Amino acid sequence: MADIHEIVILGGGPAGLTAGLYAARARMDVILFEKAMPGGQILVTDRIENFPGFPEGVSGPDLAEWMTKQAAHFGLKTVMAEAKSIEPKKKQSGYFLVKLEDGSQIKTLSLIAATGAGWNRLGIPGEVELIGRGVSYCATCDGPLFRSKEVVVVGGGDTALEDGLFLAKFASKVTIVHRRDRLRATKILQERAEANPKIEMCLDSVATGIAGNSRVEAIKVKNLKTGVAKDIRCDGVFIFIGITPSSDIFKPIVKTDDKGYIIADDDMKTSCEGIFVCGDVRKKALRQVVTATGDGATAAVSAQNYVERLKGIEYK
Ligand code: NAP
Repeated sequence: MADIHEIVILGGGPAGLTAGLYAARARMDVILFEKAMPGGQILVTDRIENFPGFPEGVSGPDLAEWMTKQAAHFGLKTVMAEAKSIEPKKKQSGYFLVKLEDGSQIKTLSLIAATGAGWNRLGIPGEVELIGRGVSYCATCDGPLFRSKEVVVVGGGDTALEDGLFLAKFASKVTIVHRRDRLRATKILQERAEANPKIEMCLDSVATGIAGNSRVEAIKVKNLKTGVAKDIRCDGVFIFIGITPSSDIFKPIVKTDDKGYIIADDDMKTSCEGIFVCGDVRKKALRQVVTATGDGATAAVSAQNYVERLKGIEYK
């Protein structure tokens, strides 16, 4: 059994890091694989104001760094590598085989899916062609490049408003284009956007194309109520229209909903025995850092109980 881990965690955002913290403190043989830098989406979040314990909020990168250090301090081993596929157990007492991008194979008794979600694309003409030349999916990364320039944000959720407010620190004007007559985002963010003189709303409107030769020059929008189409001149277009779960490698072995979110019970158990899930990749009502960390703790304890039961050493 020496080369078979007890718990393998795939994904190093707040959910995976918390699962790793709990599993390491339980002295499990646990290893976490993350394809990039640990931290997940909070690495590109300017400020997080709804994670308890920080009276004035906390910077996303700082929180990511502290979560990573805390898990490592208690013994979590993190490896930068992407898992490409998972082979299910051949028998109940067997192991899952995780194949990594470099061809190596990792054996484990249990798995925790913490792979999060990726940003959606609009799929309109000009979007892909102008990525990195004015089209962006990350305000924290690219916002400072738009000092004194005009930008358009597409979307009406928490990310669109939060990042729109962040962009208003640099840009001379931020126009938020949203397809409905009201926003989806939390009220406090809506209030701040309304009070910000640099932010303008373009509601009931969809983006139909992004124009520009070597760089973004304008976005084409159409009002869904009046049918009127117009161009909004801008230097940058930031697209925040939701997320898609990163669940592809799990789909052949666990049940997902029609959008690809992994279905689990209250103990984070999926339809496949030995596989647990936590964070944004899980089907649930509220996707926040605080719910991701709660999921992570539960998934780790469930995985620990599962492994100890397999080994006949559970504490009854
Ligand atoms: P979201 O909540 O799913 O919102 C996506 C927005 O984009 C919605 O307003 C949606 O319009 C719009 N949209 C979707 N597809 C579109 C399309 N094809 N064309 C035009 N508009 C489109 O996504 P999110 O804002 O990225 O947030 C993701 C999750 O993270 C959410 O659970 C959110 O609460 C959470 N989050 C929380 C915080 C925080 O707590 N501070 C910050 C960021 C994100 P409709 O409203 O019409 O559907």
